[in-house]
Amino acid sequence: MSQFRAVKGTKDIFPGDITLWKHVESVIHKVAGLYGFREIRTPVFEYTELFQRSIGISTDIVGKEMFTFRPEEKGRSITLRPEMTAGVMRAFIQSNLAAASPVHKLYYIADLFRKERPQAGRQRQFSQFGAELIGASSPEAVAEVIGMMMRVFADLEVRELELRINSLGDVDDRLRYIRALRDYLQPYAPGFDESARERLEKNPLRILDSKDPGIQAIIAGAPKLIDFLSVQAVDDFERVLHYLEKEGMSYIIDPLLVRGLDYYCHTAFEVTSPELGAQDAIGGGGRYDGLAKQLGSKAGVPAVGFAVGMERLLITMEKQGLAEHIEPENPQVYIVTQDPSLAEHAVNVCDTLRKSGIRSLMDLAGRSMKAQMREANRMRAAYALFVGESEIQSKVYGLKNLGSSEQESLSIQEVIEKLKPLHYS
Ligand code: AMP
Repeated sequence: MSQFRAVKGTKDIFPGDITLWKHVESVIHKVAGLYGFREIRTPVFEYTELFQRSIGISTDIVGKEMFTFRPEEKGRSITLRPEMTAGVMRAFIQSNLAAASPVHKLYYIADLFRKERPQAGRQRQFSQFGAELIGASSPEAVAEVIGMMMRVFADLEVRELELRINSLGDVDDRLRYIRALRDYLQPYAPGFDESARERLEKNPLRILDSKDPGIQAIIAGAPKLIDFLSVQAVDDFERVLHYLEKEGMSYIIDPLLVRGLDYYCHTAFEVTSPELGAQDAIGGGGRYDGLAKQLGSKAGVPAVGFAVGMERLLITMEKQGLAEHIEPENPQVYIVTQDPSLAEHAVNVCDTLRKSGIRSLMDLAGRSMKAQMREANRMRAAYALFVGESEIQSKVYGLKNLGSSEQESLSIQEVIEKLKPLHYS
């Protein structure tokens, strides 16, 4: 074995798995189009301050999970993107997209990087699809974003997902709540471990996420965020829920759902999958009206978005047996050459078929006919086409259906007419 291995927390994706990836990606592109979202691609790295300013210094992502480096000794620090929202908002502001139209609906499928301890469902390079609706965050906009996400799951036939939802209120509501939560938790602090004490200090909302049973018991008696919301915030949240119900999406209100990042406000949501074990979040999102201003935009820009982990989505699909039915694009024809001396003729036949749009393969390693047939079956080719001396003379070739074993003799033109309507439209 070579001394070189993929870096811990990264994965190779081989052709056998790509079929499922491409299927999921094609559903995402289709659903995004249906909802009027257009694709955006931003750079893989950004200046570090962008993430510090947007995600928040006190979050785990910025505090300990970013891959940060300085390309020039005295130059600015840059970071491999740990999420997409900041970069998309940066691009939106930088290119003044708001001048062209007040509302932009953008989506992406992108690789991200976080220095987390690798484990099942947690990688250091992973991929997310997500959407950002920038310029509106009305209940209709929020419902549309959630609706698009759920439609992707529905079209992929993923089952048993739970949509959990909460309202974080506006900035003032949240600050009042954080004060009340801190006051409530303070007397318990001496019994907390160091990380909980640190969270209490820097970002008390994050304690609500704690998996520690002792802390969970304390949280059960804590004040609830929902009781601190203004009348408008409650009304806004109820209208979002109303749309979800109208559109047939079931949800669970989860008062402990706060999401880790600083820029969320009002509606926040998360989708969990029972197939994922400890790392059960498949995706999540919410409103982030304050982000644009945080990044230097003069005007506030309402916005709402979500991100779904592709790997966790794929794991869920595999566990639910949804990956098996997805057919790869197998070759239509495998050209079986009687003898290596006829290779040039096989190349010509292959070339003619490909120019007609038929997915064709031939032996490139001078193998025996038996080995070529084995390869044709292994590649799941639909047909084998035999090229031998007599076929070359008569210009009539044996075409064998590898499923039914039926064989017929056809000219190349007849082969093209037979196969083209099947697969190439
Ligand atoms: P977040 O941006 O942390 O809310 O993550 C959104 C989704 O991305 C999660 O629900 C996961 O599905 C996925 N995700 C986040 N971090 C990782 C990771 N380290 N490895 C794999 N998937 C991840």
